[in-house]
Formats: sequence, structure tokens, C-alpha cells
Amino acid sequence: MDVKAYAAPAPGAPLVPTTIARRDLGPDDILIEIKYAGICHSDIHQGREEWGQGMIFPMVPGHEIAGVVTEIGSNVTKFKVGDHAGVGCFVDSCRECVNCKAGYDHYCLGHSVSTYNGVEKDMTTPTYGGYSTHIVMDENYALHIPESLDLAKAAPLLCAGVTTYSPLSHWNVGPGKKVAVVGLGGLGHMGLKIAKAMGAEVTLISHSPNKEEDAKRLGADHFLLSTDKDAWRAARYSFDFILNTVSVNINVDRYMGLLGLHGVMCMVGVPTEPLSVQTGSIVSSQKSLVGSGIGSIRETQEMLNFCAEHDLGSEIEIINIQDVNEAWDRVVASDVKFRFVIDIASLNK
Ligand code: NAP
Ligand code: ZN
Ligand code: ZN
Repeated sequence: MDVKAYAAPAPGAPLVPTTIARRDLGPDDILIEIKYAGICHSDIHQGREEWGQGMIFPMVPGHEIAGVVTEIGSNVTKFKVGDHAGVGCFVDSCRECVNCKAGYDHYCLGHSVSTYNGVEKDMTTPTYGGYSTHIVMDENYALHIPESLDLAKAAPLLCAGVTTYSPLSHWNVGPGKKVAVVGLGGLGHMGLKIAKAMGAEVTLISHSPNKEEDAKRLGADHFLLSTDKDAWRAARYSFDFILNTVSVNINVDRYMGLLGLHGVMCMVGVPTEPLSVQTGSIVSSQKSLVGSGIGSIRETQEMLNFCAEHDLGSEIEIINIQDVNEAWDRVVASDVKFRFVIDIASLNK
């Protein structure tokens, strides 16, 4: 099946309209008509080959996919035609390694099939993401988007939502915990909403003075401007958990100083440059510097159900696909409130 898409033909090149082939529906596959695709900063890191060479071009990005099931294979039991379905950062995994068997399929040690910029199980066919009209995939790696969630606002949950939900839930964020979320972007605004819904006291730390009002509107109990030295000093030793979503390197030592006894700082932002940290920052008060990547299929479904229960969606600006290159530049300039979502119907214009 040939479908319309937008692709980056080469590293850093603007995205252009193209046509890609989707595989025939296998017995375990579902066909999803894509309605919306979120723009994650990781799309840009990969499309511009900022994480190192070896990315696969032409690249059709998009791993925050929300759509409707339009066809199912003969063995499919989990989905029916008409269901709202979501696709995140991976569409298959080896299913045999210790991590897969333990339910941590997002940390597969064998061959994990990335939604794009990867290869299928045959190890040769490139995968293409959500900046396209349809996707064919194994039902076991697709998610149910609860009917009460708006599809456009739900799309970013498939990466930004689960990438923040997973560490917040793993490190037991909840009532009585003082949490800071660093960066009010796509991930950060979902981290803020989810940590708040989990019952924590949440501070949003930003380098943008103009984001205070939005942070408070989205539920932040406090706002800390990273350049305000007095406010910074007053916040020292006060947090149990810091979730860093910033797309460039920050001064980690400075942030570790905000943690109290046994505090944990978790990195989810993946800047292009190596990280530098003073050992003294973690030795004192037995602190932990940890990281977390996306989330498992089980966690992603749990997060979608949690968001439906708490009526949480992403704050979005809907764009036509023809404006995607400008949108990428605006993401890099932190000029989006707080996630661009592509209306995939515009691909047919
Ligand atoms: P985003 O929407 O661009 O948000 C990043 C935020 O970082 C910005 O809103 C801004 O927040 C802050 N920031 C940007 N430039 C900065 C600068 N020069 N100095 C200080 N702060 C700056 O990006 P995103 O989509 O949320 O993604 C964030 C990062 O997470 C990216 O590196 C992405 O690749 C990564 N990511 C990781 C995973 C994972 O599995 N671990 C999953 C998805 C994405 P303020 O204006 O509030 O300071
Ligand atoms: Zn992402
Ligand atoms: Zn595996």
C-alpha cells in the first residue's frame, strides 16, 4: 500500500512530500488511519542527525501517533475497526530477552523496531513514522486511546506523556513529595500535569521568564526562574525528585544542589553533547543521578488510562504538514505552547 508522507531526504534537509510503501496486513497486524502526529524534539535531533551518524534517510519522523483502526488481520483480538489507537516510539521488540520478558519491552536487548529511523524484523526494510496517512503494525504494540480523550490532544501522550509518566511512577512521586520539573516544553508540560495529578507539590523550573503564568495555569504550585539567584538559593535542598526535560545541557551540579537528602535527579532530555558532573554533587547527601527512556507498552496504556481518568491532555497548536519545517525551527527556539500536532488530513491537500 502506497501512502502519502513527509520525509527528510538527508540529514538536516527540509522535509518534503513523498510516497512510502506500507506492508500488506499480516494476521496480527492492524491498519491505522493516522489523524494526528505530535512533533517531538527527538524528531528534530534525529532528522538533523544531532545524535551522531548512522540515522536512516529518507526519514519519515513521528512517534506520537493517534488515529483510527480501519482494518484488522485475521488473528487480531485486541482491536476492532473504528477503535481509537495510538502508536509510540517502537512498534515491535524481540519478545525473548530478559527485559522483554519482564515487561520492559522499551529496553529490549534484542532487536527493537523503532517506529521510524529503524528497520523491521527482517533487518532490512526501513520503518517510517507518523508524518504519514497510515501505518500497519502488530496489534500487540499499539495502544488503546480512551474515547474520552481528544485524539489531537492525546497524540503527544504517546511519547511526551509516557516519557514523563514512567519515571514519575517508578520513583514513586505522589502526595507529600516535592518535585521539580525542569523545562516547560512538550515533555515538561506533561511532566508537570502528571506529577500534579499524582498528588505531588510541583515546582516548574524554566529559563524563560514569560512561562510563569502558563506554568501556574497548568498546575504548578511554584515557578523558579533558573536565572533568579536569590530564589535559587532559597530553593536549595528542598526537592525529593527533579525531572529534567531540557533539550540542551544544563549545569547539573547546580541542579543537584536543589535536592535534599537521598534526592533523585532524573534525566529524560537527551542533549547532543556529553554530560559533565562533579562527583561531589552526588556524594553529599547520598543523592542519585538517574535516567529514563520512554516507557513500556504496559506503562503507556496505564498512562493513557491515567490521563483519561484525570482528564489530562497535551496543550497543543495544530498545524498543517506544509508548515512542519517552520514548526521544527520554532520548537528549537522554545516557541511552542506546548506541542505542535500535525493535522494529517492536510497531507491530502
Ligand atoms: P521541547 O518541547 O523543545 O522542550 C525543551 C525545553 O527545554 C524547552 O521548552 C525549554 O524550556 C528548555 N530549553 C530549550 N532550549 C534551552 C536552552 N538553550 N537553555 C535552557 N533551556 C532550554 O522538547 P521536548 O520534545 O520536550 O524534548 C525534550 C528533550 O527530551 C529532547 O532532548 C528530546 O530528545 C528528549 N526526549 C527524550 C525522551 C526519552 O525517552 N528520554 C523521549 C522524548 C524526548 P524552558 O523555556 O521552560 O526553559
Ligand atoms: Zn519523542
Ligand atoms: Zn527484547
